[in-house]
Amino acid sequence: MSNENQTPTTTPNTATQSDKVSPFLSSPLPEGTPQGQQTSLQTPNDNKYTLPKGANKNEHVGETTHFGFETVRTEEKEQKVAHVFHSVAKKYDLMNDLMSFGIHRLWKRFAIQMSGVRRGQHVLDIAGGTGDLAKVFSREVGSQGHVVLSDINESMLNVGRDRLIDAGCTNVDFVLANAESLEPFEDNSFDLVTISFGLRNVTNKEAALESMLRVLKPGGRLLILEFSKPIFEPFSKLYDAYSFTALPLMGKIIANDSESYKYLAESIRMHPDQKTLKGMMENAGFQNCDYHNLTAGIVAVHRGFKL
Ligand code: SAM
Repeated sequence: MSNENQTPTTTPNTATQSDKVSPFLSSPLPEGTPQGQQTSLQTPNDNKYTLPKGANKNEHVGETTHFGFETVRTEEKEQKVAHVFHSVAKKYDLMNDLMSFGIHRLWKRFAIQMSGVRRGQHVLDIAGGTGDLAKVFSREVGSQGHVVLSDINESMLNVGRDRLIDAGCTNVDFVLANAESLEPFEDNSFDLVTISFGLRNVTNKEAALESMLRVLKPGGRLLILEFSKPIFEPFSKLYDAYSFTALPLMGKIIANDSESYKYLAESIRMHPDQKTLKGMMENAGFQNCDYHNLTAGIVAVHRGFKL
């Protein structure tokens, strides 16, 4: 598997210190960091990746979990997931379009419609990667609103930050954070929290859901867009054949990385199905939870509220 070294982007720092104090962060941005960037994004130059505060807390040392179909030690999983997304970051958007025949754009559009986002609102997009959702939210909330694009992975966040800055999104902060703890964010600070195709990569999903509830304002909503369980059996077989053969092959040809795309297919199968995830949201304290299947359940959008 390739391991692209990512040079940190040299975005000119034109912001004043007061611009950098986001109302959602539990501490101000350090001096000299690019606007909206919570910590300096490091270059991974070996197989150990810099993970943000709150990652690898070693609470579950000795336990095992799954990384795709592989059983790994819990404390190893974050590094393995980090390796995947450092490797695919630069080709991520292209691969997304090719693998889904562009349909991921429709899934995301549906999720945005379900978000009910309005002008002036505060939005957190967790595991936001290259920023597809954050870019639309930035426009929808307008200059009085605010969006945080957050991810655990500096390579993905770099791509997202460059893209959104190029698109003129001036109301977006870029913050490295682990979904499990969302450590940089204050309680009760967002009207809307989203996580799109990110939750299945998170080791401790229960902790992540509890953190999402914590940072939402009362009345706020969570949207989870994620691969799920196809509801039509014959279609399921076709889908399996496509995922386990075509995806790694495309990964090899386009990104020179079949292993990461094998992980993608396997991680989808290991993710909780629609009803299980709804139950997990309810257990975490979300209310009025529901879900909508898209493309015969290949993907589902789960919604829940903090009341
Ligand atoms: N949300 C984007 C989208 O829909 O195109 C990117 C999704 S990408 C498949 C999954 C993202 O989850 C990656 O950017 C990865 O770095 C991020 N991720 C994985 N584990 C995470 C964690 N524990 N906390 C936050 N982000 C995580």
